[in-house]
Amino acid sequence: MFDVKKKAAAPKVDNYFGSDDDETCAPCVPVSMQASWCGNPVSRPSALEIQSCAAVLPPELWTKVWDGLAQGFFTKGFPTIDRMEGACKCGKLGFEVTGILVASFQCHCHMCRRYWSQATPTPTLWVRPAHCLTVTKGEEYLGSWTVEKLSRNLRGQATVQFCKACGTNIDVNFSDPAGDFALMWPNNFKYDEWGDISGKGDKARHGYAEMFKPRFHAHYENRAYDIDDSLPKLADIWMEGLPMMNSQGDIIGEIKYPLPGFENGWMEAPTGSKPQEQAKL
Ligand SMILES: [Zn+2]
Ligand SMILES: [Zn+2]
Repeated sequence: MFDVKKKAAAPKVDNYFGSDDDETCAPCVPVSMQASWCGNPVSRPSALEIQSCAAVLPPELWTKVWDGLAQGFFTKGFPTIDRMEGACKCGKLGFEVTGILVASFQCHCHMCRRYWSQATPTPTLWVRPAHCLTVTKGEEYLGSWTVEKLSRNLRGQATVQFCKACGTNIDVNFSDPAGDFALMWPNNFKYDEWGDISGKGDKARHGYAEMFKPRFHAHYENRAYDIDDSLPKLADIWMEGLPMMNSQGDIIGEIKYPLPGFENGWMEAPTGSKPQEQAKL
């Protein structure tokens, strides 16, 4: 059991995804296999140019990751994303996404802070399959770069796609074949605006999608500052037995499935945005 009084300043949390120094270089994934795990390699060749030997997580660990999402949060199934449109900030690059939402959370991890969103907490989406995104406009503006060596959370490489004109990050794919999801950010999607949309003044508000509302915090032990909301705070990720924290980072228990509030599925779980009826957020 965890000591409730234990302070977060030195939480001894075993990182489920291991540390930097225990990486082993698993057999390289053949290029042919890399093309097959995405399902639709046609629209985004740049993301498939992952050639070098990259470490992977054990498949059984990935199984636990996906099972944990299903049993921990999405007890009534995963919501479908059907041709949802998005765009970069300058609008030159348009895309649409069709797949299933497998996670939406406030992420405090090293990668969000260092490589892509660069602020924490980061509203983060995990969407399957990995190549659920299709560029619909301005493909010539789609650029990519590869994080050669990720640390801690995911090993191997990550290919980040972005708009070459305005720098908006669009999505991330991972070299680990079992990491078959796309990482995205909810604010790149198009939503109805509400409020004063006359163009005069600044009262117009960007909408949101109910299913994308973050419903928990992950990697809370790595937070930049305490978050005083009511969402569950996972010290690391969602594997059963890993620590849960309070806003101050004290360990208050361990993860059991389903997580509190998720008994009736993702869409019925609290989002922490109160009052619910306030506008269309
Ligand atoms: Zn752009
Ligand atoms: Zn993250």
